[in-house]
Amino acid sequence: MEWDEFERWGAKAAEFGADYHRGLRDRPVRPDVQPGEAAALLAAAPPEAGEGMEAIWADFLHVVPDRLTHWQHPRFFAYFPANAAPVSMLAEMLVSVMAPQCMLWQTSPVATEMEGVMVDWLRQAMGLPEGWSGVVQDSASSATLSAVLTMRERATGWTGNREGLSGKGALRVYCSAQAHSSIDRACWVAGIGQENLVKLPDTGAPAYGVDVAALRAAIAADRAAGHVPAGVIAVTGGTGIGAWDDLAAVGQVAADEGLYLHCDAAWAGSAMICPEIRAEMWRGVEMCDSIVFNPHKWLGAQFDCSVQFLKDPKQQVDTLKIEPEYLKTTVTSGASPVVNYSEWTIPLGRRFRALKLWFLLRYYGLEGLRGRLRNHVAWAGEVCEGLRARGFEIVTEPILSLFTFRGPGDDAAQQALVDAINADGRIYVTQGLHRGRKVVRFAVGQFDCTREDVMMAVEVIAELSARRAGG
Ligand SMILES: *Cc1c(COP(=O)(O)O)cnc(C)c1O
Repeated sequence: MEWDEFERWGAKAAEFGADYHRGLRDRPVRPDVQPGEAAALLAAAPPEAGEGMEAIWADFLHVVPDRLTHWQHPRFFAYFPANAAPVSMLAEMLVSVMAPQCMLWQTSPVATEMEGVMVDWLRQAMGLPEGWSGVVQDSASSATLSAVLTMRERATGWTGNREGLSGKGALRVYCSAQAHSSIDRACWVAGIGQENLVKLPDTGAPAYGVDVAALRAAIAADRAAGHVPAGVIAVTGGTGIGAWDDLAAVGQVAADEGLYLHCDAAWAGSAMICPEIRAEMWRGVEMCDSIVFNPHKWLGAQFDCSVQFLKDPKQQVDTLKIEPEYLKTTVTSGASPVVNYSEWTIPLGRRFRALKLWFLLRYYGLEGLRGRLRNHVAWAGEVCEGLRARGFEIVTEPILSLFTFRGPGDDAAQQALVDAINADGRIYVTQGLHRGRKVVRFAVGQFDCTREDVMMAVEVIAELSARRAGG
């Protein structure tokens, strides 16, 4: 492709982007498509001869936009948001045109240094102690796996990578039953095993935090049984209902027991830029060794962008650093030591993820972002009250902008309500399971949603529920 042609189609892509977003409210959040429908529209074999951009573009318009679930739709209340603020899309466009590989300082000096500065901006924004550093990963799953591997190496005297785990006893990791499935998988992949991930009960409303006495007792019982406690994973904002652990209390246990403490704040971490929220939910956060949060969820940095803060990065680097000849760097002069972030993470190759943080934080400022988050929390509360007033059972009260409810009927009726809502298309929600009961899960947080978008959900849910009840 010649660069003149690139320029023409690049302008068209930007134009498409603006039109697509302006028209989102007119689309169903989830498309009405059947499995296999999209694949059937694609040629079964690759073309031998190249095709013109006109044909590719026409097919893109024909095949793609109507068959997507629109995650940037202002009435998306399912899962958690995967926000992409417009300014972060621009940054991603620039990254994609420069297409750097940011594994070492010397393979991308400005990306590496901007990453360090952006992690520090966020550290300040979230009230974390000076001296902490961190790294931008692709996902919370990767950051949590890095932390679990660090727990493993620490608990085996840094011999696990070299010798394997045979004969080292049962390494044990502790978390709340409210913890995310990425923690189970991290324990599988790290060779710790599902049975050695000890899931402790929560203490119920309002925070559904882990039972700290049960945590202490489990560690003591494991030591008595000859097992090897390796680490604790705390939750700030669990996926099911937003559960959050008392970090001061969990941190005290980890400190008393000499255990590594990782905190999964993948969704709720964004809200910790609000001082009043972190004063409540992040008391004792300085006792953690590692924290992950996803700016690509609520904050607005286009997927993927997951920040892992580290009190002492050396432990993770000692776990993950590997340096074959071709990765050695010879840059030693200059005032600052050189950081090679691929030594902090599992993948070698790294995208330039800091640029969208730089654009996002500068364009909106912390106050602009806090304003959005506070609105979402307030509007989730209003929707919750609206549903309660119409006779819905609120199963778990809002934690930040997430709550769960039930309509009339049994578990099957709840799933049928979710399916009816999503087939209608005006809003999109997901189901959950709380204490064995099926619930409808409602999470507010799309970046540019308005109060009107959010409040419309009350009418839609009440209408569809009544229609079902009426037969
Ligand atoms: C979304 C989420 C994760 C997983 O995040 P990925 O970045 O998709 O790996 C982990 N924990 C919690 C609490 C989450 O909400």
